[in-house]
Amino acid sequence: MNCDLLVAGAGPAGAAAAIAAAGRGLRVMLLHDARGSAWPGESLPPGMAGLVDAAFGPGLLDEARHLIAYGTRSCWGSDDLIETDFLANPLGGGWLLDRARFDADARARAEAAGATLVTGRLEGIASMPDGWEVTLRDGRRLAARFVLDATGRAAAVARHVGSGREAFDRQVALVATLDDADPYRGTSVEAVADGWWYTTPLPGGRRVLAFLTDADLLGDGVAGWARRLEPTIHVRRLVGEGAGAVVPRTSPAETAAGRSLHGPRWCAAGDAAMTFDPLSSQGISAAILMGARAGGLVAAALAGEGAAFAAWAEDYRTLQGETADLGRHYALMETRWRDAPFWSRRRSAGPL
Ligand SMILES: Cc1cc2nc3c(=O)[nH]c(=O)nc-3n(C[C@H](O)[C@H](O)[C@H](O)COP(=O)(O)OP(=O)(O)OC[C@H]3O[C@@H](n4cnc5c(N)ncnc54)[C@H](O)[C@@H]3O)c2cc1C
Repeated sequence: MNCDLLVAGAGPAGAAAAIAAAGRGLRVMLLHDARGSAWPGESLPPGMAGLVDAAFGPGLLDEARHLIAYGTRSCWGSDDLIETDFLANPLGGGWLLDRARFDADARARAEAAGATLVTGRLEGIASMPDGWEVTLRDGRRLAARFVLDATGRAAAVARHVGSGREAFDRQVALVATLDDADPYRGTSVEAVADGWWYTTPLPGGRRVLAFLTDADLLGDGVAGWARRLEPTIHVRRLVGEGAGAVVPRTSPAETAAGRSLHGPRWCAAGDAAMTFDPLSSQGISAAILMGARAGGLVAAALAGEGAAFAAWAEDYRTLQGETADLGRHYALMETRWRDAPFWSRRRSAGPL
């Protein structure tokens, strides 16, 4: 047996899980697909620094690497751009992340905590009498007593073990990076008839610009980027001229969840377990929190505690429900395009 726990995927969920499990004395391998591409930039809302410190140790959120966010601006439910200043927030500022840097630092912390970093991509997994045999793309095989799926939306392990996944919408994101033309240190969002835009500054003088809509409303897709940006009231102005000429890439952004979050000798955490609407800005914090908790439960599961993951899975479903309620609340706030499909779908009280 190569290890007690193989963590597949070395994003925030995987690194947090590896640290928690190694801290409980397990032999941990953290599988890192070096070809995987992290988002160029994302934000952490106020109040998350403590969680990051608890999972990875102090110093990961460093101003030399990431930017402190001073607020958010939103054009939502009216044509005005309303600023919410974090100065008045008792939880302090948020963070605008260099995601590649954040993930690399989190991986380094996992190694320092005792996990063995293995570079490779999980291609297959087979059940063995005492655990799993994992096959990597280059043909290497690893034996593990327990496997934790932290492969993000790929949910590579969960799909192999047949857990199934339910998607609650068909949201996609067109995402581009461009030179920063706006000194405001925070995310700005603007609702439009068939979706919403956001733009966030990045460390290093760049910024992300993204449009979120449903796949069936995408129409001419990437080609329609400039045409869709043009009628925005604020975002077009904030990102400056030339933003319409960049070529965005299309990425999945649907809200989805595994039908099972754990089973005999496996569990999923982070986006592999469930994804949240990017509007909530809680994907990374949920991945860290639930990844760390899952990593900490593996030792109990290996010791034969059948119900080790029960409360954790229940909390995950509670989080799913709360975030869905929040999504409906945001959709109800946007009354300018009541009958437009993007908004009417999100107001309905379905499973989302
Ligand atoms: C448009 C958009 C904007 C977003 N903005 C925000 C935001 O502002 N704030 C926020 O908190 N969240 C945001 N999110 C959500 C956030 O990106 C995710 O929730 C977060 O990255 C989840 O972390 P994770 O560790 O679960 O997965 P990931 O970060 O996806 O990491 C998974 C890792 O597994 C690797 N992997 C995949 N398959 C395999 C395999 N077969 N073998 C080995 N490794 C594999 C990948 O390469 C990757 O390194 C956004 C999402 C979208 C779509």
